[in-house]
Amino acid sequence: MDPGAHSHIRGLGLDDRLEPRANSQGMVGQAKARKAAGMILKMVQEGRIAGRAMLFAGPPSTGKTAIALGMAQTLGPDVPFTMIAASEVFSLSMSKTEALTQAFRRSIGVRIKEETEIIEGEVVEMQIDRSLTGATKTGKLTIKTTDMETIYDLGTKMIDALAKEKVTAGDVISIDKTSGKVSKLGRSFARSRDYDAMGADTKFVQCPEGEIQKRREVVHTVSLHEIDVINSRTQGFLALFAGDTGEIKPELRNQINQKVAEWREEGKAEIIPGVLFIDEVHMLDIECFSFLNRALENELSPLVIMASNRGMARIRGTKVNSPHGLPVDLLDRVLIVSTRPYDSEDVQEIIKIRCEEEDVTLNEAALQVLTQMALETTLRYALNIISTAQVLARKRKSDKVETDDLKRSYSYFMDEKRSVQWLKEQQGALMFEEIGAEGDNDTMDQS
Ligand code: ATP
Repeated sequence: MDPGAHSHIRGLGLDDRLEPRANSQGMVGQAKARKAAGMILKMVQEGRIAGRAMLFAGPPSTGKTAIALGMAQTLGPDVPFTMIAASEVFSLSMSKTEALTQAFRRSIGVRIKEETEIIEGEVVEMQIDRSLTGATKTGKLTIKTTDMETIYDLGTKMIDALAKEKVTAGDVISIDKTSGKVSKLGRSFARSRDYDAMGADTKFVQCPEGEIQKRREVVHTVSLHEIDVINSRTQGFLALFAGDTGEIKPELRNQINQKVAEWREEGKAEIIPGVLFIDEVHMLDIECFSFLNRALENELSPLVIMASNRGMARIRGTKVNSPHGLPVDLLDRVLIVSTRPYDSEDVQEIIKIRCEEEDVTLNEAALQVLTQMALETTLRYALNIISTAQVLARKRKSDKVETDDLKRSYSYFMDEKRSVQWLKEQQGALMFEEIGAEGDNDTMDQS
């Protein structure tokens, strides 16, 4: 799930009627699945997704992750999108259900509206007393709007903010009173005649409070999980930077839910249900699946997108085989979208897009060979070989990858089929794990 491998994906490549364009936003082929993804996105954007889940089912390297990332790109940065591999849930530091709960709450945004006071006007004069040392610089700032002046007492922080913006008399600035942020708006502010008529001694005229101030609404979007962590006494917000937030008490979550519900009623906050993408979902076990079933019923549920490349597979934690390794009651509530293996044209287009993305030039013969390699191994293998072949080309001081570079890469790095073959040949020399009654899962066929 290396995001680098998908850096060429910039959206789903659909037109306004949700019809897939042949090659757009880094996306090629897989038309049906992209269209289906677009339809689901429309529902997300209309806020009609609570309790919904979808499953991308298809062979390896058929673009399941790529399409999910295309959905995230289309939603934009304001809608939370969380991506986890199912195996991450089995971490040692917290229970499976806690890990899933955190993933769910990361995927729900709370858009909080706050009113701030903004002062906007021309700087008439700044008096800053720098003689005081350390953190106690003080000063006064006189700001003038068209017909009135206000004096602003400055503390160290504000003085630093003014210095950073290189504010001098004559500049037009705005000051956000809540955050202390200073922005320079230019020098176009017309001096009023009244001001020019004022003598030096009338400069510091304090205006009636509020008259000079504007009010602006600022909006922040945070996830429910971030609110949990910030309010958790044992964790504190610094845990957000460390990434390891530990377990959060259910009582705290209830309190947060209540608080957010109050904010919603007062019109101060809005809930933005986002998307939770669970890759390799067949790696979850029966307890996790029953958690998912319950969590999807919750009013505060994101859209859950799952991906699996398994056909019939054992449900982990049971002896039961089921399609895609998912229990039927969960399968029953998900919209299943299948992805299919690509034909040679699509594969060639994807290879070209990746080469462009990685700044690699293949000659025509090499492009044909790499396409063939992708069809005989996997698309992912072929895409990986691009950069290794480029290293080899550079070694022989060429900026173009040729067939020989690919051949050598192919001999250095094995694809899955050759690796299995090699392991078989080495039997006895390597350590083998015995496959017991648990049985093995079958990956969906590439062809
Ligand atoms: P797996 O089941 O093994 O996890 P997957 O179906 O999630 O596979 P991806 O990882 O999405 O497959 O695809 C493999 C590579 O091919 C990625 O680099 C991906 O960005 C690229 N790719 C796949 N499909 C497309 C597509 N339709 N257009 C452009 N690039 C694609």
